[in-house]
Amino acid sequence: MAHAVKDLFPDVKVAIGPAIEDGFYYDFDIESPFSPEDLEKIEKRMSEIIDQDAKFERRILKKDEALNYFKEKGEDYKIELINEIDDDKVSVYEEGGFADLCRGPHLPSTGQVKAFKLLSVAGAYWRGDEKNKMLQRIYGTSFLTAKELKKYLNFLEEVKKRDHRRLGKELDLFSTNDEIGAGLILWHPKGALIRKTIEDFWRNEHLRADYQILYTPHMAKLNLWERSGHWDFYRENMYSPMEIDGIDYEIKPMNCPFHIEVYRSSLRSYRDLPVRYAELGTVYRYERSGVLHGLLRVRGFTQDDAHIFCAEEQIEDEILNVLDFTLFVLRTFGFDDYDIYLSTRPEKYVGSADNWDRSTEALKRALEIKGLKYEIDPGEGVFYGPKIDIKVKDSLGRQWQCSTIQVDFNNPERFDVTFRGSDGKEHRPIMIHRALMGSLERFFGILIEHYAGAFPLWLSPVQVSVLSIAERHVEHASEVLKYLRENDIRVEGKFDNEKIGYKIRQSTVSKVPYSVIIGDKELETGKVTVRKKSGENLNPMAKEELLDLLRKEIDSRK
Ligand code: ZN
Repeated sequence: MAHAVKDLFPDVKVAIGPAIEDGFYYDFDIESPFSPEDLEKIEKRMSEIIDQDAKFERRILKKDEALNYFKEKGEDYKIELINEIDDDKVSVYEEGGFADLCRGPHLPSTGQVKAFKLLSVAGAYWRGDEKNKMLQRIYGTSFLTAKELKKYLNFLEEVKKRDHRRLGKELDLFSTNDEIGAGLILWHPKGALIRKTIEDFWRNEHLRADYQILYTPHMAKLNLWERSGHWDFYRENMYSPMEIDGIDYEIKPMNCPFHIEVYRSSLRSYRDLPVRYAELGTVYRYERSGVLHGLLRVRGFTQDDAHIFCAEEQIEDEILNVLDFTLFVLRTFGFDDYDIYLSTRPEKYVGSADNWDRSTEALKRALEIKGLKYEIDPGEGVFYGPKIDIKVKDSLGRQWQCSTIQVDFNNPERFDVTFRGSDGKEHRPIMIHRALMGSLERFFGILIEHYAGAFPLWLSPVQVSVLSIAERHVEHASEVLKYLRENDIRVEGKFDNEKIGYKIRQSTVSKVPYSVIIGDKELETGKVTVRKKSGENLNPMAKEELLDLLRKEIDSRK
């Protein structure tokens, strides 16, 4: 690609062009951005270069030779790169008159490239630094066969179609707004209904799993964050303090210190343990504006947080419970496929090495008892303890980090958290931090893309559309609507004068699972005609039968 660009735009300076996960990119210094027509021209030139089947030849140059070589070509970026190479020798590959810095290895010749496609252009600062010049980055991809390339391009199409920002707008689920500020989410009525359904499910299941639900404030004195260590270790993600009555307060980036304070509000004995506190706690963290992305990267979000205080010998059982609980919740949302990672002691850590080893072992044993496959992420634990991360795979096979289970030796120490043991002495409990979905905002974004906006019945903001065919059917249709609503079904009525075909199409576009159609026949028999989102029509049924069918499907959460 770089060769083709140089042929077509001789004044361009080439910067850097690595392989990335799904293909490659190259950054070019050019006055005006590449247009879509330019990309076509470049692709055409690339095909010609491929047809020439020119050999890639490696040359090892002395550093000053390489510097002279690229100086002659006016390739300032290459010169900068060569000057940073710590070796006296520089590896260069050459093909058909085009040469580039490269460690290799390389394909033997250009003819080996079988299928490729240039995908997009984006501005990118040289070395990712906004103080540097903005370059033009062309992204592309390449596969061994045209068939594989086509499959990948279809995947990209599907990703685009499922983009939660696009669907969020089309289905009127959420928005962000410049007036309010970047990374702050407005949940619209339909999105809010889905959130409420998720929250109800979450709270009920936590109560059933013997957690206690907490609510805590959105801010606290800066002192609290100093004591927790966040002000020292986490400040870059925190907002500036605000002063109230001469005292600094900080908007919360985490819920942990609040839960600790609830625990500390009375004396605890070994008989009270484990204590499990759960909260849908809204936190605020600083993220650079450039990385904010729809619901997936935001500045204000609600964690499905919980903290478990237990004795050391209870860790394994607690982890087992949390694992079961996590997988149950993930499965409920249609995630049956996941990868599990166990992160061990990093170089910088608090607590004794002995504690680390014992709790890492406990995490391992729990995973093994459950028969769960996992990978070790050596040294990737948080400074305060080892952790298990679970990444789910969505319906397109993409991986998302959601659940995390972290052991913490640090906070109980910092806050002097204790319990009275059976020996009558004070002991230090272990704290486990865990989130199942991670954040509601992010999880919602993942769900929208996972389901392509077509939520299962239990999550659908509108479960049934009641559609009248003509004016004379409105009364009966309204009765059916009222009946379903009074029985806790989320319904909407379309009783205007539009044609029935149009109304059905509207329901399909808004991905409403069921449409109920009321016309002459229905008026006569007292039954309803039910049409599924897929277009399938069910046999006419009494409204009670419909309610029964809906309830069964809702309860199955499928
Ligand atoms: Zn926590």
